[in-house]
Amino acid sequence: MQAAVFKGPGQRLVVEDVPEPNPEPTDLVLRVGCCGICGSDLHVADAAMGLPPGCVMGHEFSGEVVEVGPDAVGDFAVGDRVTAMPCIGCGGCAACLTGDIMHCESLQGTGLGAIPGAYAEYVRVGSQETMRLPDSLDFRIGALVEPLAVGLNAVNAAHLTRGESVLVIGAGPVGLAVTLWARFFGVRSVVVSELSEARREMAAKLGATSVVDGGSDVASAFADHAGGPPDVVFECVGLPGMLMQCGTLAGSRSRVIVAGVCMESDTIFPMAGILKELSFHFVLGYHQRDWRLTLDMLEAGRVDASAMVTDVVDLAGLPSAFEALKQPTTQSKVLVEP
Ligand SMILES: [Zn+2]
Ligand SMILES: [Zn+2]
Repeated sequence: MQAAVFKGPGQRLVVEDVPEPNPEPTDLVLRVGCCGICGSDLHVADAAMGLPPGCVMGHEFSGEVVEVGPDAVGDFAVGDRVTAMPCIGCGGCAACLTGDIMHCESLQGTGLGAIPGAYAEYVRVGSQETMRLPDSLDFRIGALVEPLAVGLNAVNAAHLTRGESVLVIGAGPVGLAVTLWARFFGVRSVVVSELSEARREMAAKLGATSVVDGGSDVASAFADHAGGPPDVVFECVGLPGMLMQCGTLAGSRSRVIVAGVCMESDTIFPMAGILKELSFHFVLGYHQRDWRLTLDMLEAGRVDASAMVTDVVDLAGLPSAFEALKQPTTQSKVLVEP
């Protein structure tokens, strides 16, 4: 089958023939319908100690079942349209049995080294980690479930109370998903701080009640809009300095939810957090219930994330699209249809 293969840090992906997936008895094989390009793929593809050369990335995907393992759970049949968590757990531990699969101790990740990902014609998934796509949702929307579930998990961590005000720093796909869910759960003011004008416009489409240029006086702009400092600050950038910036912008006794993935050391001044009694909560991934709620709300039409998609390419177009996303861009979510 054809796949876009990672060759080494800083090198272009190459579309070439690779072996077809080799499923375990509890696995399914999907023909990939659609796969999103994720910011973390861009990061790890350039990191010196990131991925092993030869691996296939792609962890935000949907597709059609073409093979069902003899011990697969969930009554899946060939032809079913599905999306799947990009990981395979052991299936037997407390984390797996409660849907908290990301915290399985023998977790294997998909698309970041362990299991080949969905920048390919076919992908192997765990049956336990797979969920049916409702008929009304196409493969493109199916590929947005993963980033939406990331945002939902981050918003869950904030324990929002209706009527609170939140500040979202960064309007990449994670910041946009956080914005969408914060509004969904009844936040009064969602202010999105972002350097790029195109991304600020996107945030407004996804539900921000106000947007502010990240290079301006964000604290004043927030107070002007919301009537005081934020109850919650979501860090959705992932660069050194952001934790301290969030602490500075946060109000007394407020919460900072750290969803940005910073791969370097960072410095904070603890007294700044002590004086305000801040809580910092780091989040990763999602629980399976986040996927199920996302699917239900998409099907019911109660959330609409289609505005996040700014381009769709085929497998041959993926290497160029991938390189272009490493530069400052007006793109948001770019999808691949292999
Ligand atoms: Zn991702
Ligand atoms: Zn497990």
